[in-house]
Amino acid sequence: MNLVFLGPPGAGKGTQAKRLSQELGLLHISTGDLLREAVRNKTDLGLKAKEYMDRGELVPDDLIIAMIEEVLPEGGGVIFDGFPRTIAQARALDDLLQKKGLTLNAVIYFEVDDEKVVERLSGRRVCKTCGAVYHVKFNPPKEDEICDKCGSPLIQREDDKEEVVRNRLRVYRDQTAPLIDYYRQKSLLYTVDASKDIDQVYSSLREVIDAKERN
Ligand code: ADP
Ligand code: ADP
Ligand code: ZN
Repeated sequence: MNLVFLGPPGAGKGTQAKRLSQELGLLHISTGDLLREAVRNKTDLGLKAKEYMDRGELVPDDLIIAMIEEVLPEGGGVIFDGFPRTIAQARALDDLLQKKGLTLNAVIYFEVDDEKVVERLSGRRVCKTCGAVYHVKFNPPKEDEICDKCGSPLIQREDDKEEVVRNRLRVYRDQTAPLIDYYRQKSLLYTVDASKDIDQVYSSLREVIDAKERN
């Protein structure tokens, strides 16, 4: 099974992808996580991507597509989280999957309004070391500001600060939201109400996936 998770920043794609990938044994490919790792390691890609990420702009398509080609396993079995984000990326994904004899089974659209997105992004905290994601109100760590999994301090992502968030929402609307129609026309789009709490969203997601697996 190959899935795409689509939706605005802060919709909960990463949170749900982590859980679903573990339960189904799929590979979770988060382009945001891969890019942040590249930035940390100061690789060529990281050095090029950083300025875009800091501004909340999209990293150029050719860099993203090359990165995906590198990590996509031969046999598939992946959740793409935060990719594709442009029509050009979606076309490149179609080509890449076809070349490998793989198919895209479903695109899950995480629907949630801007107000919720801002609330979620402003309270998001991430572990400096292992990348685990928390929310000060909706998914707090057991001990304030400390990662449950590894004990490292939690930080706020620079691009989760208010000015950058507003730009990311604009970028989403202009460049990524058109993918909703792109995939609807291919009859691949499944909409999940992402405004509910984490467990409720997971149940709706499972319903879609379980129905898919049955046929
Ligand atoms: P979010 O949690 O807001 O969905 P991500 O962690 O997915 O954010 O992405 C963080 C940043 O990384 C984006 O603002 C963008 O600069 C870059 N990025 C991630 N995925 C892509 C992509 N598919 N295409 C272009 N840029 C991307
Ligand atoms: P995305 O990957 O789409 O950017 P995340 O999974 O990182 O989103 O979630 C954004 C923030 O919102 C995180 O702080 C996360 O803990 C929190 N969150 C995720 N899903 C929900 C939900 N259903 N209700 C409330 N908060 C959520
Ligand atoms: Zn941690």
